[in-house]
Amino acid sequence: MAGKEHNLVMLGAPGAGKGTQAKMLSEELGIPHISTGDILRMAVAEGTELGQQAKGYMDRGELVPDELVIAIARERLAEPDCEDGFLLDGFPRTVPQAEALEEVLDELDREPLKVINLDVSEEELVRRLAGRRVCSECGEIYHIDYSDVEDGGVCPKPECNGEIEQRSDDRPEAIRERLRVYADQTEPLIDYYDERGLLAQISGEGPPEEIAERVLPAVRG
Ligand code: AMP
Repeated sequence: MAGKEHNLVMLGAPGAGKGTQAKMLSEELGIPHISTGDILRMAVAEGTELGQQAKGYMDRGELVPDELVIAIARERLAEPDCEDGFLLDGFPRTVPQAEALEEVLDELDREPLKVINLDVSEEELVRRLAGRRVCSECGEIYHIDYSDVEDGGVCPKPECNGEIEQRSDDRPEAIRERLRVYADQTEPLIDYYDERGLLAQISGEGPPEEIAERVLPAVRG
């Protein structure tokens, strides 16, 4: 990548579109997209020790303990593909995680972060989360109102025979808990990064391509 190191954090409530924007942005900038949620879901699916420790918290919509996710992020950021930049999606989610991230970047002698907060109304968040479906094979995300998918059906992607399912934490009770946990533990990070002059506030409402057009200049600027 030419010159500039992009060390990015995608902040936002569950359902704000962090994953979708992070995927587009990481492809555009040629930097790895690191989702702690994806890493944890994979560990659960594989039944590793980490997965067994994390599963209960995730199913209830609670946060996995800081020490587990900090260890995941620390290990991942030290890999060679992160040397020219990275995009963190879903980490940090608490102030202790943000402090640990600062320490890791110091140790690795890295440029400061740029933090994008995707701002979406609560009504829209609930609508997006309750209608979200994922493919069990390729991980593609769909919304039941905007695509042909149905529960138990087959992924519409060519050559993918994965089953369409709902994430266990996208059910109403877990959604309520995740939004409560977000307001309580993650929202304070908006002020934390704003006070440090690292924050860009972007409206996360509207079609994904339009949001991406707002995100890119904020990152490059
Ligand atoms: P996500 O896919 O980012 O919505 O994450 C799904 C679930 O994984 C969350 O509800 C948490 O249980 C867990 N998780 C992911 N990232 C973190 C994090 N940084 N800290 C604590 N728990 C996390």
